[in-house]
Amino acid sequence: MAEAREVRTTCPYCGVGCGVLAEIAADGTTTVRGDPEHPANFGRLCSKGSALGETLGLEGRLLQPEVLGKPASWDEALDLVASKFSQAIAEHGPDAVAFYVSGQLLTEDYYVANKLMKGFVGSGNIDTNSRLCMASSVAGHRRAFGEDIVPGVYEDFECADLIVLTGSNTAWCHPVLYQRMLAARRERGTKIVVIDPRRTATADECDLHLALDPGTDVLMFNGLLAYLVQAEKIDTGFIRDHTSGFDAAAGLAGADAPTIARVAKGCGLAAADVRAFYDLFAGTERTVTVYSQGVNQSAHGTDKVNAIINCHLATGRIGKPGMGPFSVTGQPNAMGGREVGGLANQLAAHMDFADEANIDRVSRFWNAPNIARRGGLKAVDMFQAVADGRIKALWVMGTNPAVSMPDASRVRAALAKCEFVVVSDVTRTDTTRYADVLLPAAAWGEKDGTVTNSERRLSRQRPFLPPPGVARADWRIVCEVAARMGFGDAFTYQTPAEIFREHAALSAFENAGGRLFDIGGMADLSDEDYSAFAPRHWPVLERGEQQTRLFGDGRFPTPDGRARFVPVRQEATAFSVDVDYPLALNTGRLRDQWHTMTRTGNVPRLMAHAPEPAVELHPADAAAHRLKDGDLAHLSTRFGSVRARVRVTEAQRRGQAFMPMHWSGQFAARAAAGLLSSPVTDPHSGQPELKHVPARIVRE
Ligand code: SF4
Repeated sequence: MAEAREVRTTCPYCGVGCGVLAEIAADGTTTVRGDPEHPANFGRLCSKGSALGETLGLEGRLLQPEVLGKPASWDEALDLVASKFSQAIAEHGPDAVAFYVSGQLLTEDYYVANKLMKGFVGSGNIDTNSRLCMASSVAGHRRAFGEDIVPGVYEDFECADLIVLTGSNTAWCHPVLYQRMLAARRERGTKIVVIDPRRTATADECDLHLALDPGTDVLMFNGLLAYLVQAEKIDTGFIRDHTSGFDAAAGLAGADAPTIARVAKGCGLAAADVRAFYDLFAGTERTVTVYSQGVNQSAHGTDKVNAIINCHLATGRIGKPGMGPFSVTGQPNAMGGREVGGLANQLAAHMDFADEANIDRVSRFWNAPNIARRGGLKAVDMFQAVADGRIKALWVMGTNPAVSMPDASRVRAALAKCEFVVVSDVTRTDTTRYADVLLPAAAWGEKDGTVTNSERRLSRQRPFLPPPGVARADWRIVCEVAARMGFGDAFTYQTPAEIFREHAALSAFENAGGRLFDIGGMADLSDEDYSAFAPRHWPVLERGEQQTRLFGDGRFPTPDGRARFVPVRQEATAFSVDVDYPLALNTGRLRDQWHTMTRTGNVPRLMAHAPEPAVELHPADAAAHRLKDGDLAHLSTRFGSVRARVRVTEAQRRGQAFMPMHWSGQFAARAAAGLLSSPVTDPHSGQPELKHVPARIVRE
């Protein structure tokens, strides 16, 4: 009998990136517990993370490649993928193919997929489901800082005196971070302000809850900036020495939100509550503003991000202990994907297509003369191109767009119509049914590589189980297709460590301190060091050295070294409620579910928290629609319709409805929130407005 062993790895669910110890007993049974040495969680795990050991069964697992629904060998399947992609490129050009990938991929998987599409196919058409999660934060960071940087670290929550949580149900979506915030509240009296239209579990425990009208965040933060100026609570020295554009941003904020009364009216709040928040912010040096999908998933998400950052720049509260704007990501490796260039508008290693020198540099590094010379299609546009027939061959890796994309009916129709669809994934999903070729991928516990969490900390996911059937690592599948397409010389990797070393070397290649994403200090890690490396923040310029907070010296990665204020104005949501669709529908996560439930849906104790699809309504709205708690109802928007149980709750504001985004066809037919969502996107980030769509409801 094998000996018991313990493997140190990382939770695959959310961007907190908690360390996990997997204990494999002699009989093969696996249990998990929090890793007390991991600096993201110090031993804590939330309900999802602590149930990881119960998700390791083979229910629904893909065990063998399939071609047109029939079992096939790897050679048959990979030959077909390579020949169909090569044929589409030969007949219609490189932009006739696309990859839609996932924040579930490990950095090494992401790196080779990006290298194949952008470097060797020669198209920018690789985008990630992180587009739905934090693309607006990326765009906001780049506008303000010149690079996609989260300046702070989790420790800042423990040394802040004020934490502002805006558009973030942290208690459910980043539970371990929330536990750290509550500990700070208990131990040092940290105040917590929650800005969210719903009274969420997070709002239940705060000092002040501002249940603002959906989509009015820019007005709220423009009002704050105007108030800070009027109250002379700005840091004029920091503004003068380290920023540009203050006058224009402050001027527009003052015109947009000149008084507290104007903000209160526009946001649907009591003036006293707005003033209480502004006074707290103005009077508290150590302030962190945490924002998440409630800010990002908007037709104006990038402006919201910059409205928040403007307030931190105006007060000089950035890059110092307990201070800063802080984007928390939804997925375990959204940050890693951003680093390698998993977004269609990024090239690699935080370089974009705007500068020819970047394209030349990456082309030489990869020895890829046919490299893409412009960005590709972002997620919503990519599926539109599939629908239009411009994209002939699509490879979906580790994600379920038939459920998660907005206007999911249109996405399903596009997948059904596409000439050739490849899906590589761990289990069958609503998307795998559209696959011409299905490729079985290795899952958490079998995969080997790295992820980066929301505080720029790289951690290892380590394997402790063999892949079942003939499942393979995503990076290996991509390399095998690349070789069959004639690019084998550039994809000879035998281990994820080799890929990581190349990724690290690219980040430092001709960089000379220009970009802060530089992990060149790890470009020469031995296999043993890669296997053993402890969690660490980037940048990593020298072995052993690491920086924690960034921008504390007042220098930013812009051409003039200054952070940029961005003037922003409050704009209306993409669609307004009207007599036909009188409710504003918001979507979001449940405490115990993850994505489209393909893993957490198999755990009875996680399902028990919310066992069926439900739409939450205020009691007055329920009464107006002759609905009572427990009724079945049809919820419709201009994009589609779902069926759900009604939950009547005072936590909803009047005129608003809420539905979880998780439900997929395996668990509840006709309950995917993606069927209802609007595909309208932010013009800067391409992120869709998933938090606001007009809806109506009728009893079944
Ligand atoms: Fe996993 Fe996130 Fe929970 Fe940590 S907080 S255990 S990373 S789901």
